Amino acid sequence: MFELTIIGGGPAGVSAGVYASRKQLKTLFVTKEWGGQSTVSLDIQNWIGTASISGNKLAEDLKGHLETYAGEYVTIKNNSLVANIEKLTEGFKVTLDSGDTYETKAVLVASGSKRRQLPAINADIFEHKGLTYCASCDGPIFSGQDVVVTGGGNAAFETAAQLLAYTKSVTLLQRGTSFKADPVTVEKVLSHPNMTGILNAQVVEIKGVKFVSGLTYINTKDESVHELAATGIFVEIGMIPNTDYLAGVVELDQYKRVIIDPWNQKTKTPGIWAAGDCTNVLYHQNNIAAGDAVRALEDIYVTLKAR
Ligand SMILES: Cc1cc2nc3c(=O)[nH]c(=O)nc-3n(C[C@H](O)[C@H](O)[C@H](O)COP(=O)(O)OP(=O)(O)OC[C@H]3O[C@@H](n4cnc5c(N)ncnc54)[C@H](O)[C@@H]3O)c2cc1C
Repeated sequence: MFELTIIGGGPAGVSAGVYASRKQLKTLFVTKEWGGQSTVSLDIQNWIGTASISGNKLAEDLKGHLETYAGEYVTIKNNSLVANIEKLTEGFKVTLDSGDTYETKAVLVASGSKRRQLPAINADIFEHKGLTYCASCDGPIFSGQDVVVTGGGNAAFETAAQLLAYTKSVTLLQRGTSFKADPVTVEKVLSHPNMTGILNAQVVEIKGVKFVSGLTYINTKDESVHELAATGIFVEIGMIPNTDYLAGVVELDQYKRVIIDPWNQKTKTPGIWAAGDCTNVLYHQNNIAAGDAVRALEDIYVTLKAR
């Protein structure tokens, strides 16, 4: 039986894996891929200790760090998904997508999340060709240009605020009847002279030849159809946590994020901890995910050794 199973090879899971190895916990480490969500980014500038790093290099470094320390303590199963977790009298049975099963005393869930994709015609074709899910990665490319942000929450407004610093104009399209971001943020962003916010606007199609040249949206109230010229489209319509396999095992919130105690990362199921973007914490960043996972590992270690 393993003492610990860590699920996820992003910054959260790998940080926990390195600590597990150094604390000599017999650990099963399962991940579909290395590096997590920001592997799509070309330039991450806030991974502390590194002024600039591509997402792919970050993934390579994380993998290398864990492999260097894994030794006899951490067994790595790459290219594998955890498909199911079942409570046993003592510990848990973890089933991978291959059908292989393992028993473990404790579990750390660090399976992260994925961006909600824009449900519009051609959105997939124009991804990375003007349509992007990351303003901090790709925003500066659109300096001096007309851009669109889709979404109406804090993430969408913060993205708009960032883009206003260097783009020619920002138009924010919100499908719903109101903006969901904090009123003070909404007011501040919308007061910028280069900013326009449009409600009841559902994007239906992305236009362009090789790169984005604009989009079509429909007014959901009167069903009128509108064309908008833009060279950049920033999608901020939410995240989907990778937690389907946890249903019935740990308590999830209304957005399917794992509910944790931020003091120690414990879920409401004894023996299961969670960290990073799959949890109901307020902020999602590489450094936060890594730090939360280290906190979880410290607590797991103390709990296991106290038994
Ligand atoms: C486009 C983009 C750009 C970003 N840029 C930055 C930035 O510049 N700076 C910054 O700090 N943050 C950035 N972020 C946020 C940052 O990427 C996340 O906060 C961070 O990756 C969260 O780490 P995590 O380990 O919790 O989860 P993730 O990074 O989501 O990693 C989860 C891992 O779990 C694996 N996995 C999922 N399900 C399973 C399963 N069932 N079984 C096994 N493995 C599974 C996945 O393969 C993945 O490796 C960016 C995010 C995006 C989307």
